[in-house]
Amino acid sequence: MSAPDTDCFRAFYVHKFRAVLGKNRLIFPGEKVLLAWSGGPSSSSMVWQVLEGLSRDSAKRLRFVPGVVYVDEGAACGRSPADRAHTVAEMRLLLQAVGFPWHVVTLEEVFSLPPSVLRCFPQEPVGAVGTYKVAVDSYLQQQHALGPERAGGSPIPAQEGERAGQPCSHDPRGLAGPQPAAQTEALSQLFGSVKTLTAKEELLHTLRTHLILHVARTHGYSKVMTGDSCTRLAIKLMTSLALGRGAFLAWDTGFSDERHGDVVVVRPMRDHTLKEVAFYNRLFAVPSVLAPAMDTRAPEKASIHRLMEGFLLRLQVQFPSTVSTVYRTSEKLVKAPRDGRATGPRCLLCLCALDIDASDSATAFGAQTLDFSQTQPPTPRAEAGSPTEVGSAQDCCQGAGPCRRDDPRARVMEQLCYSCRANMKDVPSFDLLPPYILAEAQLRSQRYWLATQWGALPGCGASFWAAAPGDKFPACGFPQGLTRHPGVSGRGQR
Ligand SMILES: [Zn+2]
Repeated sequence: MSAPDTDCFRAFYVHKFRAVLGKNRLIFPGEKVLLAWSGGPSSSSMVWQVLEGLSRDSAKRLRFVPGVVYVDEGAACGRSPADRAHTVAEMRLLLQAVGFPWHVVTLEEVFSLPPSVLRCFPQEPVGAVGTYKVAVDSYLQQQHALGPERAGGSPIPAQEGERAGQPCSHDPRGLAGPQPAAQTEALSQLFGSVKTLTAKEELLHTLRTHLILHVARTHGYSKVMTGDSCTRLAIKLMTSLALGRGAFLAWDTGFSDERHGDVVVVRPMRDHTLKEVAFYNRLFAVPSVLAPAMDTRAPEKASIHRLMEGFLLRLQVQFPSTVSTVYRTSEKLVKAPRDGRATGPRCLLCLCALDIDASDSATAFGAQTLDFSQTQPPTPRAEAGSPTEVGSAQDCCQGAGPCRRDDPRARVMEQLCYSCRANMKDVPSFDLLPPYILAEAQLRSQRYWLATQWGALPGCGASFWAAAPGDKFPACGFPQGLTRHPGVSGRGQR
């Protein structure tokens, strides 16, 4: 590539990154944004784009406050401690060079997560376009008042307890530092027990998401940026479809994902193809750290993820518009509800609005429900299309089989969406799951049971739900669904 071509490509590449952020106007000036860096090419390129965007002198400089998180997943992938230490050391060197505040966490830390990580907290009011403009103007005025040295200098104000280029201390529960060997062993055992690579990949994605969400919340980040390229998102869209996540495609592949409420995931690399990323990283010496992933050296038919990747990439060679066609389709998908504030029960693992169905319906979901609760006769409420049958009074006190509230597996399964249910069928023992998942499942079940008991008392039915719904069970996705009368079908909520 000649020099003018290189310049042109660079301008095009940078413009795409800036344009996708500018068009969506989601990140406000001064907002704390956590960059999820896996060490791979796309997320490395994203970190470098942010680094470059923050150091620019132009008026179009990025104005948010970044931090970086790196999750060491070596235990789930069966890597040796020496290998893992080598990769982490490489990442640390790069993180120091980048100079943002950073957090290195290991996947073992999911065993220390609190159950509250599985709850949706209310989102800060999202500003309209006018509000965004007001925020930018006031930020510029502030910068002007600080004087030219500060305004033109480092755009990264030092945060309390965080210094640029330094690792950040974690919360007092002690998530930092080397993990006990027992936790590494427990994680290896969990992933070793999962029957299929597809379920392993999904479980890894779920646990990683929860961990990053926890880091974001404990350090006050309101946005998380991931480095999903357009090629990766096209593959993810087709994979999600195959995994039964059709209802959540807009959340899984869109620019922003508001399912967690207070922390929004954004995907600023979604207009860049993997090929562009590879060219850019090579031309401008963007470093990346390659570590073997879970599916490294796995045969192509080992998992739905690998199969879909191979299928799409091969099709792309013959028909170069394949990826862009699939990707453009993802742009047209609309979230339901549009503002992202779904009410009603959420899936325990992926935290999407539960795609609920009655256990005796003639759908795939209904068949699954029957599968794990076949000892239970259909209850009158199930026939009426009740939202969920979690530990309801009928199940516990009148069912012929064992009480579902005492069976941890059934308790978790009935709080999952269709796709998560299918994946968790390949996890033989739920006792190996991190405690926060089981604890939250039990908590939700108990709350629902209590609520139904309360609702069953004479004179305490509809008035209980109408009185002060948010006050009784704040900040939990599941009880939000209880703000209506339990007899009302969940279908109308979507
Ligand atoms: Zn789910």
